[in-house]
Amino acid sequence: MNVAYGDGDLEKYLTNAVAVSKEHPVVISKFIQEAKVRMLLPFLPLPLCHARGLIDVHVHLREPGATHKEDFSSGTAAALAGGVTLVCAMPNTNPAIVDAATLATAQKLAKAGCRCDYALYVGAASDNAAILPAVSSQTAGLKMYLNDTYSTLKMDNVSLWMEVGQALILGETLFFVVETILLIRAAKQRGVQVTCEVAPHHLFLCEDNVSAMGEGRAQVRPMLGAREDMEALWENLDIIDCFATDHAPHSVEEKSGERPPPGYPGLETMLPLLLTAVSDGRLTLDDIVLRLYDNPRTPAWAEPFTKSKWTPFQGVKVKGKVLRVVLRGEVAYIDGQVSTLRKELLSRNRSNTAALWRLLRSGPPEPTGTERSG
Ligand SMILES: [Zn+2]
Repeated sequence: MNVAYGDGDLEKYLTNAVAVSKEHPVVISKFIQEAKVRMLLPFLPLPLCHARGLIDVHVHLREPGATHKEDFSSGTAAALAGGVTLVCAMPNTNPAIVDAATLATAQKLAKAGCRCDYALYVGAASDNAAILPAVSSQTAGLKMYLNDTYSTLKMDNVSLWMEVGQALILGETLFFVVETILLIRAAKQRGVQVTCEVAPHHLFLCEDNVSAMGEGRAQVRPMLGAREDMEALWENLDIIDCFATDHAPHSVEEKSGERPPPGYPGLETMLPLLLTAVSDGRLTLDDIVLRLYDNPRTPAWAEPFTKSKWTPFQGVKVKGKVLRVVLRGEVAYIDGQVSTLRKELLSRNRSNTAALWRLLRSGPPEPTGTERSG
């Protein structure tokens, strides 16, 4: 341990901590129902800060099928070491997760091995469009591989999927140039429901780094871009919704072999890299929390509650949202979920209209109110 900063409740924190050191500047702590991350910023006036446990929506944990590369246990240990407390694991395993049976197998393995929270994607194939909606509630979403990558799930025809409206669909682009990020900006400005995820290796590495890494180890999809591509990401940070590692581990032997598979491990290095960018003044801590906690848990395409499934404000950027509503002492809405427990209580109270008006006129009814983020 190598800790020296004035923080009153650090002792309490350390009883739950995994690691603190200047070499590994992240502390994880899991309290009763919430996960938090503490980040040590040795070069900033604020040396220690804490945030919610981070959410990585794009990892490959290789189990089942390639556990010499990674498994649920080692992958989620890496997640915790990187400040990530919820991972969303991709379905390009062996067998691939494409139906209820393969999902059940993977869930069993994940339950046995995972050291942090997890959710599993299912993969789109040419013949499973009809069966996946039945299991969609048990998944993180639907992954479509639209191009060649490290996968047995490449799709040649997506038209079958156009009718499966309820599924949350994640696509992935393999070309990575300045024009792509500008295309996403233009789409967002037109109100198209598109979100954009960027991996730290595309923010911190470019083709200038390939020779030092070696051609084989440098293989990744999308391939590292030119320096101007990398800079374009920083310049357009405002339209990037999430950071995600695309943690894609392969063994050293494989990466050094004749046909090196694409992908880098990233879970343990993401946060230290991003904190370095904070120290360099290129990012703020809020930028990190927004893209690794707030946005991943609140997809931009979340279904509205109203039956009128549209808004005249489609595509308008706003700077506040309701986090929690407490109604007569009861939590009625929190983090995008409406409480289902309160109906009887509320209807009983609502029925006495005269009493309700008396309450409202007599001043602020104590525990009722809303919270708004700024
Ligand atoms: Zn991936």
